[in-house]
Amino acid sequence: MPPPDPDPPLLQLRGITRVFHVGTETVRALDGVDLDVARGEYVAIMGSSGSGKSTMMNLLGCLDAPTAGTYHLGGEAVSSMSGGSLADLRNARIGFIFQAFELMPRTAAWKNVALPLMYAEHRGSQSPRVRAMAALDKVGLSDRASHHPSQLSGGQKQRVAIARALVNDPKILFADEPTGNLDSRTTTEILALFRQLHRAGHTIVMVTHESDVAANASRVIRMSDGKIASDLSTDDDPVTAAFRQSHPAETPS
Ligand code: ADP
Ligand code: MG
Repeated sequence: MPPPDPDPPLLQLRGITRVFHVGTETVRALDGVDLDVARGEYVAIMGSSGSGKSTMMNLLGCLDAPTAGTYHLGGEAVSSMSGGSLADLRNARIGFIFQAFELMPRTAAWKNVALPLMYAEHRGSQSPRVRAMAALDKVGLSDRASHHPSQLSGGQKQRVAIARALVNDPKILFADEPTGNLDSRTTTEILALFRQLHRAGHTIVMVTHESDVAANASRVIRMSDGKIASDLSTDDDPVTAAFRQSHPAETPS
């Protein structure tokens, strides 16, 4: 047996296939995907509707399991983990951000942020409220802690959702069209927040169908029919490279 790789990729997919059965139909949402993501990368996933982006994000985020193939996270075989250890791993290492925010409506912002702490083993001595407030501070929303989601703008709701994703201090962030419900000014604000989290050392994988959003990442993966159609640095992908050249202030160089 070869010695174990001393520095395996943070995320590694091999031959990942996900098949859905709907009535008599079989949908191959992912079809033999191989992917390596290194620690500290900022990856954008693009592709037309139905190409398998959300299915891939749900698998990466341990919210779903593949029909076939293997997934290693930090060298650990996720695909063979049981429900309990999978939930622990997800809680400790992964923050997930959704397009539609997925906040509890009649619940204060800080309680929404504290929710993942109810499922995690308590580390340290700080109360859930103190930790939720610290996470809200990271997204610049300390002054809205008692507001309910209905009292917040779209951008503020997404900040609350990002604070919730950060509350367990995970190093990996998965975001499925995080700016899909936001106007362009708010999108710019949320992208600045992602850039800041990336600089702080988070590994980020983000789905988007907008090239200007993808231009923020350092790598662009394009999906088609459940397969990876291209996988390029943002400077080599023709569309995102053109945007980065024409908007140097809005994208990292
Ligand atoms: P995308 O996010 O790129 O728009 P999805 O990953 O959501 O695409 O879907 C990929 C394909 O898998 C689509 O054909 C979709 O209809 C199908 N699919 C996704 N989730 C399910 C599900 N839970 N049950 C049945 N089919 C699904
Ligand atoms: Mg989707």
